Amino acid sequence: MRTPTDISTLSTNDVAILGVPFDENSSFLRGPAAGPAEIRKQLHCGSANYYAEDGIDLASCGRVFDVGDIDFRVASGWLRTIEDGAGKVLDTGAKLLSLGGDHSVTWPLIRAHAKKHPKLTILQIDAHPDLYDELDGNRHAHACPFARIMEEGLVDRLVQIGIRTLNQHQRDQAERFGVEIIEMKDWAPEKLPDFDSPLYLTLDLDGLDPAAAPGVSHHEPGGFSARQVIEIIQNLRPILVGADVVELNPVRDHFGMTAMLGSKLLREIAAKMLE
Ligand code: MN
Ligand code: MN
Repeated sequence: MRTPTDISTLSTNDVAILGVPFDENSSFLRGPAAGPAEIRKQLHCGSANYYAEDGIDLASCGRVFDVGDIDFRVASGWLRTIEDGAGKVLDTGAKLLSLGGDHSVTWPLIRAHAKKHPKLTILQIDAHPDLYDELDGNRHAHACPFARIMEEGLVDRLVQIGIRTLNQHQRDQAERFGVEIIEMKDWAPEKLPDFDSPLYLTLDLDGLDPAAAPGVSHHEPGGFSARQVIEIIQNLRPILVGADVVELNPVRDHFGMTAMLGSKLLREIAAKMLE
């Protein structure tokens, strides 16, 4: 997984891994800004190889590149900084696999993708619908990004799975925006609809059970197993045009196991994006 000296050398449908080390919109605990570094550390620690389960070696296939982190030292504000940084990679024709960061980063990432894909479906794996109009007075909080995305009309369709924290406000918001929610209590793989437009996967690691993924800010028991999420990724149709893995909080992790899970899921998502 080389780092290109210049992103203009990326080719169409290469997969570019981009870190988004940003957690200023976390409502409860900080920490996800350190997520990209921890996932990379586990990815390269030598404990596992670089193969995805479909047999692709991501290290030697020549189509997966690590393009580093978004640079937040520029003064244009977090939204514009992430949107522009993602847009620069997408302009090369490469697909973007982003590592958060808290879930607020998905809003500017989707803004960048929507410019390329006027018809886009998001599949969100999450314990939470993140549809709050505002949280603690912050309309940019990591509990709000999908309200902003739907208000801006950036996507055709939003499908959420793993959800197990719905309150009345978020039910109302889901109805207002036409969000399709398969709550965790109702989950069965065959309930996942067929997608007929380009697909973007946003994976909040708290969608998994805290037993599998303790390194997140909000422990919500009763979530997916690692194997269930791997199977969901492997069975996705059509091909993924973009993805993010967010909300790893290394402060809450044990022995790097959630970061290791993040690196495993990164391999499976990258392999699916290469199809
Ligand atoms: Mn989330
Ligand atoms: Mn969540």
